[in-house]
Formats: sequence, structure tokens, C-alpha cells
Amino acid sequence: GSFETLGLSPVIIRGIKRKGYQLPTPIQRRTLPLALTGQDVVGMARTGSGKTAAFVIPMLERLREHSPRAGARALILAPTRELTLQLHKVVKELSRYTDLRTAVLVGGDSMEAQFAELAANPDILLATPGRLMHHLQEVEGMSLQTVQYCVFDEADQLFEMGFAEQLRAVLSKMGDARQTLLFSATLPAALAEFARAGLKNPAFVRL
Ligand code: AMP
Repeated sequence: GSFETLGLSPVIIRGIKRKGYQLPTPIQRRTLPLALTGQDVVGMARTGSGKTAAFVIPMLERLREHSPRAGARALILAPTRELTLQLHKVVKELSRYTDLRTAVLVGGDSMEAQFAELAANPDILLATPGRLMHHLQEVEGMSLQTVQYCVFDEADQLFEMGFAEQLRAVLSKMGDARQTLLFSATLPAALAEFARAGLKNPAFVRL
């Protein structure tokens, strides 16, 4: 299997090639065809497996281009500021030949700078749960109802860091017509329960 046989758009293929990826990694080979059909996925994979591109590529393929009036159509949640900034870098690189816009909502940066990013009609939000909830409380009219593609990355860490309540609040603020992916190295009972509540008939990909 190659990236070309997955039916990806030329702009996405160009971004992948520019990043230097020749062939999909095993987690990508198994996740991409499922995620590209719109299926929910629970991916059990560690950092280093290529899991980031496994959820970023289907997101870019789904969004394709900037939409000024559609609201944020994708949301990626991660446990830490550092991981969120790393994910942002990958999203920017892989979306290099698209006009998609991103906003990064993490603690440690000013709310004002993030208000400006939100005002610029981002297609993709990358966030830590605490700061995302803070924005939802502060920004009048901010909604997650437009989110069509949602990722919980390093979900076991999200739970270990005590974000369970915020994650359930985020779930409750999104519409049902969305694709959800959850990536985690482990699947403890509380997380499996969360996946049952937040994902629809997910495919399990273990590596
Ligand atoms: P991740 O597990 O997402 O943190 O990715 C681990 C490393 O693998 C990162 O340096 C990625 O840029 C790299 N990587 C991801 N997918 C591929 C691929 N298909 N070919 C080569 N390197 C990749």
C-alpha cells in the first residue's frame, strides 16, 4: 500500500511528500482506509508509530479547503501544551498546500492572542481541555456544534491528568454528526467507558 492508492487529493499527497513520507507506517496503513470512509476509530498506538499523520491526513482530506462561514470543523485535543504545539506543527506541514486555518488554544499563551485566532475563522482547533473550556466560557457565541471531526490524542494521559470531566463537557457540546478518533497507548476501564459514550461503533486498531 502507498499513499497514492488511498485516493487522497493531490494537495494532501503533495504535503505528505514534502514532509518526506514515502510509504505509510503500519498504523497508517490500517487506520487511513477506515478513517477515510468516515468511521470512528480507537487506535492503540504509541508515539513513534506515525499515529499523528494517521489522524491528521483523514482530517485534511475531509476539510479540503478553508470555509469562512462553516465554523471550526475539526478539533484535536491533547493533554499538554507541548504535545499540542507538536501536533500543530504536523498539521501545518501536511496542510501546507491547502488554505486551511488553525487555532491553537493552550494554557501559557494569552487569551487575547487566542481570541484573535478564533476571530479569523479557523477550520481546525488544536487544544488542551482546560483552555478550550475556558474559551467556551469566555467567548460569547463560541460553539463546537460545527465540529465534524474530533480527535482525542494520548487519551490515557488526558485521563491521568484529570481531564475526564472537561472531556465529557466537550463531548456534550459537539453535535452527533461527527467522526471521532481516540488514540491511546492503553485502554483502562474509565477510558473504554468514555470511548463507548463518545464514539459510534468504532473500529479498533491495535499495534
Ligand atoms: P508520531 O508517532 O506521529 O509521533 O510519528 C513519529 C515520527 O514518524 C515522526 O517523526 C513522523 O514525522 C514520522 N513519520 C510519520 N509517518 C511517517 C511515514 N509514513 N514515513 C516516514 N516517517 C513518518
